[in-house]
Amino acid sequence: MIFSLKPFLVSIGLMIIFFSCNTTQTIEADYVIENVDVIDANSGLQKSKSVFIQNNRIKKVSNFGEVKIKSGTGKVIDGSGKFLIPGLWDAHVHLTFDPLITPTMFKLFLAFGVTSVRDTGGLMDLVMPEREKARRDPENTPRVMVAGPLLDGVPTVYDGSGQNNPHIGMGQANPEEASAYVDQLIEKDVDLLKAYEMLTPETFRTIIQKGKDNGLQVTGHVPLSMDVIEASNAGMNSMEHLRNLEFACSEDWEKLLETRKKLLFDGKDEAGYYLRKNIHKAQRQHAIENQSSERRALVLKHLSENETWQIPTLTITTSSAELFYGRPDWQESFKYLPDTIQKKWAGASMERAAQPIDSYNQLIADWHLEMINHLKKADVDIMAGTDTPIYFLTPGFSLHEELALLVKGGLSPLEAIEAATTKPAEYFGLEKELGLIQDGMLADLVLLNKNPLEDIRNSNSINTVIRNGKLHDRAALDQLLESLMK
Ligand SMILES: [Zn+2]
Repeated sequence: MIFSLKPFLVSIGLMIIFFSCNTTQTIEADYVIENVDVIDANSGLQKSKSVFIQNNRIKKVSNFGEVKIKSGTGKVIDGSGKFLIPGLWDAHVHLTFDPLITPTMFKLFLAFGVTSVRDTGGLMDLVMPEREKARRDPENTPRVMVAGPLLDGVPTVYDGSGQNNPHIGMGQANPEEASAYVDQLIEKDVDLLKAYEMLTPETFRTIIQKGKDNGLQVTGHVPLSMDVIEASNAGMNSMEHLRNLEFACSEDWEKLLETRKKLLFDGKDEAGYYLRKNIHKAQRQHAIENQSSERRALVLKHLSENETWQIPTLTITTSSAELFYGRPDWQESFKYLPDTIQKKWAGASMERAAQPIDSYNQLIADWHLEMINHLKKADVDIMAGTDTPIYFLTPGFSLHEELALLVKGGLSPLEAIEAATTKPAEYFGLEKELGLIQDGMLADLVLLNKNPLEDIRNSNSINTVIRNGKLHDRAALDQLLESLMK
């Protein structure tokens, strides 16, 4: 029998044609965002990608055209000309600061692309039910991390005794009392701890140790009785508002510390709120006017080596000089708040914005902005947080101002995005799950109409927010915002 090679070659040829035409893989997914430019802190800008989402995860990120959604399994969203970033964090919020605002906060965060928040101070009875609400409905609310109340000393700053000081601090008279109280917080499953300014060094160290023993980060304000290096060396994981760093970076930091200790002792029977205020008043301006670059370098070296992170909250620390709340778009954002708040904030903020900038406020703001560059050069970790809803900071909306201020202070737009995405994820040990746009990560994402790397303010050009895999397109987000205006 003569073996004919011809049919064999033809079939090989057909197979080659078949496979070369069929390199487009298909996968099942709930939806795919096609031909979108993807931005995350690890890879920067990656052009023309397809991002497949299934359930609450990013199933796959591929080059556009290489992988298609299996027909009939899910929908295709055209991402052409748009930019996909990870969901944003506001790493410094107070969900229960004002009971009138509390019910609006989750909606506002979602509408402005904030898919995770870190609550840095609230009473347990108030703040834990909010976290519970969020956990029950992860598609429509941000992820919530809770510190519980401020662990303060005695006297206590926020003891609720006056109009300006809500009751969010719990005074700990000694290490034993603090230890027992922190046990209660841990029992109730807080996500981190927050130490405050009136703590003695001994009680502060006890709280740090408790945090370490239980795998909880301890954040806070550096106690007035301590130097920043001392607090960092003790194991404090992060510091809010760069609070009290100005004292530590002053050329006469030692003398200032001695004086503070004396003022704390002499004022031990005064109200905590005023005692702290008077100490700040006595030292802040002097400290900022007498900064030492050598001392600052030493302080920042410790913060970097000890991995003591900073949450500068520029929206609060520079607000009295930046006066962004007087801007028309800022005033416009008040319309999503309850009527009484809207009126109160509009009146007070415009009055404030119309006044000439006080030189002290300018000094404070300039120092905070300058510190961003110093932190960056010293390789100190930074997270983006605002302090919303304190001081006219509209929830969600204000996070975008924080990003812009971080860039004004010296971060690149990508570094600002990092401070609001990968950094907070890493802070909570969630870096394998959250903060990047990669296969297998949780699907918390924001689709933008404009490139935030060209102008960080484009972080607010929100087209769609994805939370735990659920798509909230512009129409849905507008509906959400409208529901707040009824
Ligand atoms: Zn705060």
